[in-house]
Amino acid sequence: MSEIELTNSARIAQRIAELRSELPQGVRAIAVSKYKPVSAIRAAYAAGVRDIGESRIQEVIEKRQLLADLPDITWHFIGHLQSNKVNAALANVDWIHSVDSLKLAQRIDRAITSDVPSPKLCLQVKFAPDPDKFGWEADELLRDWDDLEALERLDVRGLMTIAPLGLTEGETRALFERAQQFLQGLRVKAKRWALEELSMGMSNDYRLAIAAGTTAIRVGRTIFGER
Ligand SMILES: *Cc1c(COP(=O)(O)O)cnc(C)c1O
Repeated sequence: MSEIELTNSARIAQRIAELRSELPQGVRAIAVSKYKPVSAIRAAYAAGVRDIGESRIQEVIEKRQLLADLPDITWHFIGHLQSNKVNAALANVDWIHSVDSLKLAQRIDRAITSDVPSPKLCLQVKFAPDPDKFGWEADELLRDWDDLEALERLDVRGLMTIAPLGLTEGETRALFERAQQFLQGLRVKAKRWALEELSMGMSNDYRLAIAAGTTAIRVGRTIFGER
């Protein structure tokens, strides 16, 4: 390993230790390694990280091949999933946090067979208008709910949300609290799924997400540095 990589690894380990000290019991940090080399993932792994997040399927496939000696990584997909990538996603990731439409949910349901383990899913919801982002508006999700629960192969674990850029701290806090309340309401409505997961909080707002009861933060830059 070169001296520069060593320094990087030490820095990654340090940032992970700092982040861990802030995490309450039951909140996990998913290390988002998109656009970062596998050497960065190895450094995080050496520091004890097992949850890795990526936003492009092709990148997951390439990195998994290079990291085949680390079989106990849990791969979290967090990007927009195109229909034609669903089979590749099922073969390569353990979680999909970004199920963002009924159509995609139906497509995933059809792709699950006895040979392919059913991935754990989060439904992506927008709690503030954000034309740049995929996902259901909260009331749209309620309208689609019965159709979703009719998809028998799906293993829906909860919700995922992203706070739009440019909100104030107070607005972001309110948005995360709204997500938490909406999830609690959905638990009452849900017949099949326990909905224990709330995937929210990124490098610039994870502390607010923790205060609002997130169960999984997705942090890239905090661990790996700027992209
Ligand atoms: C990139 C990304 C993250 C991580 O963002 P950071 O600002 O690097 O922490 C989290 N969630 C999603 C959906 C992302 O695309």
